[in-house]
Amino acid sequence: MFNKKTVDDIDVRGKRVLLRCDFNVPISDGIIKDENRIIASIPTIEKLYKSGAKLILCSHMGKPKGEIKPELSLAPVAKRLSKVLGKEVLFAKDDCVVGENAKKAVAEMKEGEIILLENTRFRKEETKNDENFSKELASLADIYVNDAFGSAHRAHCSTVGVTQFVEESAVGYLMEKEIRFLGNAVENAERPFTAILGGAKVSDKINVINNLLEKVDTLIIGGGMAYTFIAAKGGEIGNSLLEEDKIDYAKEMFEKAEKKGVKLLIPVDTVAAADFSNDAESKVVDSMSIPDDWEGLDIGPKTRELFAEEIVKSKTVIWNGPMGVFEFENFAHGTKAIAEAMVKVDGVTVIGGGDSAAAVNVLGYGGKMSHISTGGGASLEFLEGKILPGVAAVDKGFRRRVKLVAGNWKMNKTPKEAVEFVNSMKYKVNNGKSKTVFCVPAIDLVPVAEAIEGSKICLGAQNMHFEDNGSYTGETSAAMLKEVGVKYVIIGHSERREYFGETDYTVNKKIKQAVKNDIIPIVCCGETLAQREAGETISVVTTQVKAALEDLVEETAIKLVFAYEPIWAIGTGKTATAEQAEEVCAAIRQVIVEKYGHDAAEEVYILYGGSVNGANAGEIFNMPNIDGGLVGAVSLTDEFEKVVNY
Ligand code: AMP
Repeated sequence: MFNKKTVDDIDVRGKRVLLRCDFNVPISDGIIKDENRIIASIPTIEKLYKSGAKLILCSHMGKPKGEIKPELSLAPVAKRLSKVLGKEVLFAKDDCVVGENAKKAVAEMKEGEIILLENTRFRKEETKNDENFSKELASLADIYVNDAFGSAHRAHCSTVGVTQFVEESAVGYLMEKEIRFLGNAVENAERPFTAILGGAKVSDKINVINNLLEKVDTLIIGGGMAYTFIAAKGGEIGNSLLEEDKIDYAKEMFEKAEKKGVKLLIPVDTVAAADFSNDAESKVVDSMSIPDDWEGLDIGPKTRELFAEEIVKSKTVIWNGPMGVFEFENFAHGTKAIAEAMVKVDGVTVIGGGDSAAAVNVLGYGGKMSHISTGGGASLEFLEGKILPGVAAVDKGFRRRVKLVAGNWKMNKTPKEAVEFVNSMKYKVNNGKSKTVFCVPAIDLVPVAEAIEGSKICLGAQNMHFEDNGSYTGETSAAMLKEVGVKYVIIGHSERREYFGETDYTVNKKIKQAVKNDIIPIVCCGETLAQREAGETISVVTTQVKAALEDLVEETAIKLVFAYEPIWAIGTGKTATAEQAEEVCAAIRQVIVEKYGHDAAEEVYILYGGSVNGANAGEIFNMPNIDGGLVGAVSLTDEFEKVVNY
């Protein structure tokens, strides 16, 4: 089922519609070298202007990094579009993107007219998901439509931030098609389901391999990355590409495949070359014994046959990454053989963008695949099982305006210091943009409860016991907290998990006890550095979340606040990038969607914690799945005001 609002579900007549396209096309000397992305955007553009929209197009092109680079102007795209559509597309030339020209042009627009704005990345705020530039973009339009799948893995102003300030958002036809094909291929594939992965590096595709092993019947690995897998099997690989630090990971993947009953195929023979060039001397060798000084640059003929046999009997095939150095004609045979096998498939064939899309097009098989993704990075992230921020942002529930910012003081501030600090802060942190909670040490609860009177600050505790009362020396019950005015309680903080024996089991019991006493639990979860580096972040965090939700009915679950705190970022000054934080918070929300449905998931607050400060709060809090922060060190200082009023 497709559960996003599309351009078919909105009424655009007479409305100003901002359409985010992916016009990131290669251009030199003003000439567009490959117009595939322009052509792919036409169906949505036609639908909108023919339905009477005043259509405002926007896109980024290249990486101008906030500078005005005339060679990256979208002016040639406006010209090309006018030709393709047979209709004028006016270029609103403004170096600041939303300037006098754009505003005037929009004000004068009639139904069915089209304008194109300048490259959104001429503004440095674009890639920061900055609120002000998001508002500027939104001010031009009533409705926002995102059709830029190729940029959907980025949380920028024109893909995410803008959705917070328009009346309505939807996805375009291209985005819909990408989500349907890639989504269905991964989630509801007709079987047998085969995935083929190639390209240079294992490290680029770690999460894809991991995720696809959960879904496919057969996983084929070729290209440069295959040699690390061959090495993991004890093969001699000569000078071929090797990522030594990924050998253990490759071994784990073989074990995982066996456990899951997935066929994991690697090359049995290899075309080895004496050096890295098209004209190099070459010979076909056994993949397990590539001679010293020779390097594998393509899969061998037996492997082509073996892979093709598996591909043609599949009902769904998805492919990302070439089988060899296909840029060299003499080493493109493996890649070509895969493309030929895919053409013969009686079922769905999907090309996951990037190099394999280019290879298929060059070979002239483009029209013979069910779908060729227009997104490189975006389609890889989709295959990793990630929820893309640009896709999540069009969902109505992810447009919460009031954020929740909780300060975790940990074991800091005596009662006297606590009262002094609260008195200095209490009227500074109430501007209405965020709801503020001070989670203070137990002994500070009573004096802080008095000190915050008359302000909008809420009182929070840092822990509680799961029993009502009894012989639990040193502990505090939920009823005690409630009586002194506590509204929130942190549960399962990583420090309590690490130093005080907190487990997923006790976390779950404490959640139930808190909710029973009308206290909102802020449930912490997060991964260690070792887990992140092993590509286990999502599985570790979602396992913790599932354990926290064990036996909870929906009415209880929707009251919870989750806080994602990467353990490696606590107290270290290190911080996840806003995109890393968003990725995990989106995965947490997905657990709730799967268990309780979309409406419930939209109720739940998900915070990010881990070295949030005055400078990074805005970028992090403007992510579609992040509803605020759990702030450590900075909550003890005046800088906390900046976080709350980010
Ligand atoms: P990726 O961007 O990871 O999909 O990698 C694509 C690149 O991998 C292409 O430029 C190929 O030339 C390169 N590649 C594929 N197979 C090999 C190989 N056996 N040795 C070196 N490079 C390879």
